[in-house]
Amino acid sequence: MTSSGATPTLKADHAALVEELTRLLGDGHVSTDPDELELCSVDFSEQRLATAAVVARPGSVDDVRGIIAIAEKHGAPLVPRGASMSYTLGPIPQRPGSIVVDMRRMNRILDINLDDLTVTVETGVTWAELRAALAGCAYEIPFHGPFSGSRATVGGGLGNWAVGWGKGDITTYLLGVEVALADGRLLQTGALATDPQHPALTCYGPDLTRLFINDAGSLGIKTKACFRLERKAGGSAYAAWGFAEEDQALALMSEIGRLGVATDCFVFGPYHHRVFYSRPRPPAHEAKALLRAIARQSSGRLNAARNLFDLLRGGKLGFLARWPWSVQTIVDGANQRAADAAMGALRSAARRLGGKPIPPSLVIAMRAMPFVPIEELIVGIDGECSFPSNCTVSLSQGMALKRALDAFFAERADFMRAHGLMATRLYLTTANAFGVEPIIYWRDRMNPLRYSVLGEDRRRRFGHQPENATAREAALALRREMVTNIFAPFRPTHVQVGKYYPYRASRHNPDCWSVLEGIKNAVDPKRLMNPGALGLD
Ligand SMILES: Cc1cc2nc3c(=O)[nH]c(=O)nc-3n(C[C@H](O)[C@H](O)[C@H](O)COP(=O)(O)OP(=O)(O)OC[C@H]3O[C@@H](n4cnc5c(N)ncnc54)[C@H](O)[C@@H]3O)c2cc1C
Repeated sequence: MTSSGATPTLKADHAALVEELTRLLGDGHVSTDPDELELCSVDFSEQRLATAAVVARPGSVDDVRGIIAIAEKHGAPLVPRGASMSYTLGPIPQRPGSIVVDMRRMNRILDINLDDLTVTVETGVTWAELRAALAGCAYEIPFHGPFSGSRATVGGGLGNWAVGWGKGDITTYLLGVEVALADGRLLQTGALATDPQHPALTCYGPDLTRLFINDAGSLGIKTKACFRLERKAGGSAYAAWGFAEEDQALALMSEIGRLGVATDCFVFGPYHHRVFYSRPRPPAHEAKALLRAIARQSSGRLNAARNLFDLLRGGKLGFLARWPWSVQTIVDGANQRAADAAMGALRSAARRLGGKPIPPSLVIAMRAMPFVPIEELIVGIDGECSFPSNCTVSLSQGMALKRALDAFFAERADFMRAHGLMATRLYLTTANAFGVEPIIYWRDRMNPLRYSVLGEDRRRRFGHQPENATAREAALALRREMVTNIFAPFRPTHVQVGKYYPYRASRHNPDCWSVLEGIKNAVDPKRLMNPGALGLD
């Protein structure tokens, strides 16, 4: 408390802001509970910027526009938030006095139109909810969502440019979005701009949709998204190969990228192999649900029997312990014969590059249940905290990036040992690109978000570890150094820019930045929409 007079004014403003939000949304949908404000002020990146002032949960587009009007009146920054499954500061406030707009009440599937082959959703829907809604249908969005889809929302995926399971990425089948702008306007893009009732094509004049993808919520609050549906694959083939050497596995992954027929292709290393084979045996009902899902996703009885046999011969995945590296892949086709034939090309490449076939049990199970338990990837096997970073380069640059990372972590080995840090990596190929996710681990207390995703067992074992600010700072410094000194010279792309990756510095031509700033000024003249996101303060 100061005697300057500023604090009472701020307090009065804050009380009025909360009162107006409560009048708009109703009592249960506005929170100033300190625990909740704290939860909304941290993500997995562990950096603290500012504490949220209030959390508002809109239930409709009118609510969102009402919140924006109140924010505008009070000059309060707005921070759109999905499930906050991010590690780049996107959904957490940078400025004090911010309203966090938690979109998860807006989770309705508005329309599944099998005549026009479209699905329209509110953006607070999770990928798991969307998948469940389309489960009984012969059609799907062939991009299935991020690994975090059990909690992550479609809106967060749009804000981060989600990649992950299935074909392409979140933009590949996107027909348009609806966005509530900070200046009060409501914009539809792409096919939604032409005919919101029957969206079809996006090619009528400039399609503004992509402007709002990976914008980290800096250009508006997305309220609706419309995707094109396609007939589900008539057949899917699964394969996996073990490798003694990381380079060999990556050579195959790059070759698979170039062949261009795989729907999914991931490379896992020794640490993640251990994560997978150390999983406790699932309870009977979960095991049965998995078997049912595999049978459902198979093309006919014979193929279901083959997939179940492949799953079961992998047992508890103990065979992964014998292989430091594995390439895991799925090929989809119009029918089983087409999928198997296309997989033939991958098998030849694997043979040529020294891969040893291993049971594809992991990838069969993951296709059936693609959304991993969040706690499994964001908390280490022994209860370490972790943050991944993503970096994507062209296929021809991939190995050079990998070698630069090898050298970086080798040089920092003493520093890492001194602070008890560890690093692992995942790789994937998306379209014609080579992606790597280095993950840094350290021992520390669980921040409230991390604690909130732990199941009972991990809460009991790891939920109350002591604070270790020194190791955390070391991990943060190591990550920043990697992004600045190792990633940046490759001129990579980063999904999930948030408030972390050096987007502005990466624009090689200043005009690229000034045009974006002009757009920001046009849609958010008071700079209230997620300040700091993309580097737009
Ligand atoms: C275990 C784990 C696995 C992951 N796997 C993947 C993966 O496979 N692929 C991948 O791409 N990412 C992955 N991620 C990162 C992240 O979960 C995804 O990017 C996800 O799409 C984020 O969704 P969210 O709902 O949690 O969004 P948030 O984290 O809440 O928000 C993300 C950004 O979008 C903005 N935003 C959210 N909703 C809206 C809205 N309605 N309107 C405007 N802006 C909005 C936020 O301000 C923020 O900048 C993973 C994360 C974890 C922890």
